[in-house]
Amino acid sequence: MTGPGILRARILAGLRHGFTTREGGASLGRHESLNLSPTVGDDPAHVRENWERLRAATGLAFARVRQVHGCRVVEASAGADPAEEADAVSTSVAGVAACVSVADCVPLLLADPRSGAVAAVHAGWRGTMDGIASAGVRALVERHGARPGDLLAAVGPGIGPCCFEVSRDLAIRFRDGVDRTAAVARERGSRVDLWRANELLLRRAGMGRNRIELLGRCTSCEERVFFSHRRDEGVTGRQVAFIAAVS
Ligand SMILES: [Zn+2]
Repeated sequence: MTGPGILRARILAGLRHGFTTREGGASLGRHESLNLSPTVGDDPAHVRENWERLRAATGLAFARVRQVHGCRVVEASAGADPAEEADAVSTSVAGVAACVSVADCVPLLLADPRSGAVAAVHAGWRGTMDGIASAGVRALVERHGARPGDLLAAVGPGIGPCCFEVSRDLAIRFRDGVDRTAAVARERGSRVDLWRANELLLRRAGMGRNRIELLGRCTSCEERVFFSHRRDEGVTGRQVAFIAAVS
């Protein structure tokens, strides 16, 4: 049996982190195979088994939240199943991993090499527009004394500009509200680039350009590697992104 599929960001080398893929789990059918969400219609025994495999492979305690496409960042001091409503988690407790789950929405992992504090952020289009990326940076600054210029970030697998077709109105809102390079607005086939939008928002929050890595992996394009809510028409699993604090 192979272990759970986990991708890493070069920029976070040396930190315990990862973006799970759909590979190496026990789930079947539409949730094949490493589905990590208990609320998407999968067999609960399979989901438990998948979490056991991830815990065994990483040795981490995962601090999770009930994601609601908002902008709240919860501070975690221990592993927790999703209960609190929030869309990002920060922590400075060694061995505790800030963790968000996604299947098209973009996961952002942030790390402060100076304090060892970290954050995981769930950025769908709504959260991106509302500034969840800067809320993640702010949490590390205000709670852990981080300087934005010191932070490292990885923008993980999510639906890419290749596949994220939106209404013309939404594309215009991104061009006006974020940046004209974050969307293409046409009568037909308007696109939003959530990777680019979040990179820009992190930079506006004070991060350096060369301290942000875009993985550039599209969940919708890569059917064998990732779950995609849009491609799979809403019946699919969830992958997670996680990063552990260092003491
Ligand atoms: Zn794509």
